[in-house]
Formats: sequence, structure tokens, C-alpha cells
Amino acid sequence: YILKGGPDGGDGGRGGHIILRGNKQMWTLIHLKYNRHFFAGHGENGSKNNSSGKTGKNIIIEVPMGTVVKAANTGEVIMEILNHGEEKILLEGGRGGLGNSHFKSSTNQTPRYAQAGEKEKEGVFILELKLLADVGLVGFPNAGKSTFLSTVSAAKPKIANYPFTTLEPNLGIVRVSDYESFIIADIPGIIEKASEGKGLGTRFLRHIERNAILLFMISVEDIQIREQYDILLAELEKYNPDLLLKKRILAITKSDLANEEIIADMCPELPTDLPVIFISSFSKSGIKDLIGQLWKLLNLYA
Ligand code: GDP
Ligand code: MG
Repeated sequence: YILKGGPDGGDGGRGGHIILRGNKQMWTLIHLKYNRHFFAGHGENGSKNNSSGKTGKNIIIEVPMGTVVKAANTGEVIMEILNHGEEKILLEGGRGGLGNSHFKSSTNQTPRYAQAGEKEKEGVFILELKLLADVGLVGFPNAGKSTFLSTVSAAKPKIANYPFTTLEPNLGIVRVSDYESFIIADIPGIIEKASEGKGLGTRFLRHIERNAILLFMISVEDIQIREQYDILLAELEKYNPDLLLKKRILAITKSDLANEEIIADMCPELPTDLPVIFISSFSKSGIKDLIGQLWKLLNLYA
């Protein structure tokens, strides 16, 4: 209604992006299991007086560090989120259209058209977690590692095509709460084979880049806990001294097999350089406490 005001249609806003953001407090992708569809907002239309439309709302999906994104159709790796707070646009919002004022010229002072915005985009992606484990079990055969893993884990994560898949580590997701979980790996033969140079198990552990914890497991039946612990440490060190830099906890397993007297006798002889906790996968005693301690330690320097 401005006399001879000329074209004044504003530009449309661009559509919202779908963004991935690294979050050091996330350890698995399980939160995306039941929430797989994400919709960013539409860009608003431009309007008169050259007002541009608002940009559509971005959607941010929080993922653990080490998340690898692949195109669902080709399997091609598109991106990786490696750092806390790192944001990458997974799917860009469509470009907003240009208002009619962009199209005026000396020969056409009242353009009746404007450029349409881009159509919405859609994408299907596969998210995988590259880092396989937060807690690695270390112990001799029969220490009760596998039993422990099956006692505490809520789900068996699918193992992707990573070099260490051949090791077939036995992985379990431990749910701490709805949004808190971590992964324990029972790596068969980590000790037996390490010193023979077949230490695939420790190579696997070396790939754990974050604050991975080593959970040592020694059965209460092995009266000489301290000696056993020292042997385990020596084996790890022989293979890769870096492993000794990792935080560790010692669980003395099968505590249901020992009475209080035996346990009391053991206590003065226990290693003192790490937290020690008695557990039983059978009676469940100490299990909750151990999970709580692991979770605390995982997040201590996260
Ligand atoms: P791994 O070789 O370290 O994986 O040990 P397993 O989990 O296979 O257990 C070895 C043996 O110890 C099995 O016979 C288990 O039934 C037994 N075992 C495991 N956990 C417990 C426990 O908490 N209490 C008792 N009494 N036996 C256990
Ligand atoms: Mg086992």
C-alpha cells in the first residue's frame, strides 16, 4: 500500500539443520534405538516490507564420542564425531527462497514472481559406535568374567565391522539409568595369549581411547589374591605398558564361596593401589556397588 512502493517480498528462511553433537557423558547409542526419526523445522515464508522468514528450528542429536555415520544405501562413512561439543551437520536445511525484490530490474520493476525455497530433504543414516568398550575385563580363565557380564548386561550390542571384531569380544551394555549406560567387554584370552605374542586382546584394549577402565577379576578361591593380581599386571605390562596407565578396579569374584572369616583373613593381604570389592554373580552381592563404582570412575575425568 505504499504508492509505487515496488516489490518488497522478503526472502524465505532456510529449513532447520539436523545436527550431531558429541557428548562425553554418553557412552552408547541405545537412546536412539526407539527414537529414530528426527524432523528439523521448516523455514518460514518471507513477507512484505522485505521481512525475511525465520530460519527453521535446528535439531541437535547428542551422540557419544566415536560415533561413525554411514549412508544407509551405500555404507559409505560420511562423518565421525570424535570430540565433546563437536557439531556436524548431518542434513542441511533447505535453502530459503528469494523474495521478489531480488528480481526487479530496470525493465521489470514489478516482478510478480519470487524464487521458491528448496524442497525438504530426507536422509537415512546408520550410526555406529567405534569405541567398543568402556570397561575391559581382565582375569584368568574361570575367574567368573563371562558370568559377571551376563549378570550385569541389559543387551548385547551388535559388533560392527571393525578390525578387532575377529577377537569376538563379548560385549554387554550395562544400563545405569534410562540415559546412562556403558559397555563392558569380556575379551577371551586377553591374558593367556598376551605373553605368547598373540595378544589380540590387548590390541583391542589399546583402541579404547577414552577413560577406559580395566576391571580385574580374581576368584575368591585363589587364596593368594595379591600374587594373582601381580601376575595379571605383569602380563599386561609385558604386552603393552600403556595398559597400566588405565584406571583399574579389582573385583574378587564368587564371594558366595567364602565365609566372613575367610574374607576377613584375606583383607590385610589385598592390593592397596586400587579399589577392591567382593562380588558374587550368583548371590548378586556387591554387584550394584561395583557398577556404581565403575560408573563413577568412568565419569570422573570425562
Ligand atoms: P570366565 O572364564 O572368567 O569367563 O569364567 P566363567 O564366567 O565362565 O565362570 C567360571 C566358573 O565359575 C563357572 O562354572 C561359573 O558357574 C562359576 N561362577 C561364576 N561366577 C560365580 C559366582 O559368583 N559364584 C560361584 N559360586 N560360581 C561362579
Ligand atoms: Mg569366559
